[in-house]
Amino acid sequence: MNPQERQQIAQALADWFHANGRDYPWRRTTDPWAILVSEIMLQQTTLPTVLGRYGEWMRRFPTPQDLAAATEDEALRSWEGLGYYRRVRSLRAAAQAIVERHAGVFPTEAADIRALPGIGDYTAGAVLSFAFNKPAPLVDANVARVFARLCNSRTPVDSPAGRREQWRLAEQMLHRTDPRAYNSALMELGQLVCTAGAPQCLLCPVRAWCRAKDKNPAELPVKLPKKQTTALEHWDILHVTKRGILLELQPEGRRHAGLWRLPRRSQEEVQDLEHIADQAYSVTRYRVTRHLHRAAPGTRPRKGESYIPLHGLEQIPMASPDRKIINGLISGSRTR
Ligand code: SF4
Repeated sequence: MNPQERQQIAQALADWFHANGRDYPWRRTTDPWAILVSEIMLQQTTLPTVLGRYGEWMRRFPTPQDLAAATEDEALRSWEGLGYYRRVRSLRAAAQAIVERHAGVFPTEAADIRALPGIGDYTAGAVLSFAFNKPAPLVDANVARVFARLCNSRTPVDSPAGRREQWRLAEQMLHRTDPRAYNSALMELGQLVCTAGAPQCLLCPVRAWCRAKDKNPAELPVKLPKKQTTALEHWDILHVTKRGILLELQPEGRRHAGLWRLPRRSQEEVQDLEHIADQAYSVTRYRVTRHLHRAAPGTRPRKGESYIPLHGLEQIPMASPDRKIINGLISGSRTR
């Protein structure tokens, strides 16, 4: 693809976005904090879920100062239901860095934005282009698919060589005068037109330049073979007393660090206990099955475990599967 073609593609995309771009709350603002929050939320949470939570979250933490001043518990609690809690910890760390290093003013330079905790190349590119209208490269899964098809590339997009190829192209394809619309268009084209299953090439604004349009573009992008799903199984107890429900605070180093979960026991320890329910859910490449048993009377808290009063459950941060199963079972639980 020569420089002139690249420019034409970038311009066609920007024009298409001005005519067809969808309206989202984060597209009505150029506030870099609001844009950063939307990008972090959208990383691993579906669009409808983010749309349902974003406004409320921004009202609670409208500036970096507001999140920087919140406790980790408050931040985790506010993120419940969005999953992947590492994101809100990073967001809070970024807010604290903005307050400490930049006196609370969101930095405008690429190097300063990239130096914030939890900000990778994609997020930096999104903030720079969407908030400050600066020409900054950006590649996510949608953009990678569009690029792979435009170039009819057979390099696996999730391989190191594929990533280098994608980012090199993103650098070469920058729109110098309308980067906000252009970057938005790239992502939106991947979401709406150049979709994973069946690209709608007849509606595509860059069809004229696409090398894959007549070569079964649905086969692209090529990806490395998928990693196998790993099955995980664990055994938990439900113990409700007059003091509350027994929960375990997850320590640093565990995936749910800072969140409260039902106490875990070994399979042998629960074998004589009453089985209450099973719960199955998927997290990344893990398929988790948990077996919940009613604790024996007189069960004592272990290290990291505490009784949480039932009326205080709403205030503590809890892993979503735990809140779900507790909400469903607690009313029917016998107090011991
Ligand atoms: Fe994707 Fe088809 Fe457009 Fe090519 S022409 S970029 S395959 S939608």
